[in-house]
Amino acid sequence: MIKFGPSGNSESFYNEGHKSTVEAPKWVSERGLDIYEYSFGKGVMIGENTARAIGAEADKYGVEITAHAPYYINFSNPDDEKGENGYRYLLESMRAVGFMGGRRVVFHSGTETGLNRDVAVENIIKRLTVFKDIKKAEGYENYIICPETMGKIAQIGDVDEIIRICNIDESYYPCVDFGHLNARTQGGLKSYDDYEVVIKKLINGAGREKTENMHVHFSKIMYGAKGEIKHLTFSDEIYGPEFAPLAKVFYDYKLSPYVLSESAGTQAEDAKNMKDVYFAL
Ligand SMILES: [Zn+2]
Repeated sequence: MIKFGPSGNSESFYNEGHKSTVEAPKWVSERGLDIYEYSFGKGVMIGENTARAIGAEADKYGVEITAHAPYYINFSNPDDEKGENGYRYLLESMRAVGFMGGRRVVFHSGTETGLNRDVAVENIIKRLTVFKDIKKAEGYENYIICPETMGKIAQIGDVDEIIRICNIDESYYPCVDFGHLNARTQGGLKSYDDYEVVIKKLINGAGREKTENMHVHFSKIMYGAKGEIKHLTFSDEIYGPEFAPLAKVFYDYKLSPYVLSESAGTQAEDAKNMKDVYFAL
């Protein structure tokens, strides 16, 4: 079953007087949504007790929690110590989302930062090949980690690169951020056919099962010559992309992804909008 939800708390969550993410699962379920993404973007700082309290609420209200790993992970870093720090950040993210009852962690693979792109990609492949055994040895074989397609051209993460990374291990699933893809292609996602090209590529490259159960980030994003500039809301009418044609592709290909809104402040509202668009098909 396809699932929809917000990444983090909407402005309306706070405006209604809520203060803690422990209150988020109930709030999200009351809005008819299914999933909630907790961001460890600035680091895994949540305590075990708080994480377990969120997990208990999530369980009570039938909301599944996913997590976003720290943004400073950079598996392409030529410095081994810095590059390999990413192992710890992913392990910490899996541990914390596990306390919340979740089993899925999204992450950014790395950037070019002065490297030849091929070298940057090979560094990522090498480290995430090492990591698949660490992940298993540490007891996280049942957790899914999702390398994300990225919005800035200098970041590693076009569709082909993400497919290569996912093919390292059976537990690596794609996180396709369609706003990012639209930004890095200067508005390349407009029609049903544009989205279908991406989905066909994923099915052929990463396989039917991983595409069916992939992670999806969807928001409208402002972009320039170098790609992503900033996240917008669904009220934007300039940059896009539009969700409706993608919803139809999901429907026609019988896909059941985790679809998260990363809108700037209206994540829950825009996630509900996407859910309504999908179920009106
Ligand atoms: Zn991300």
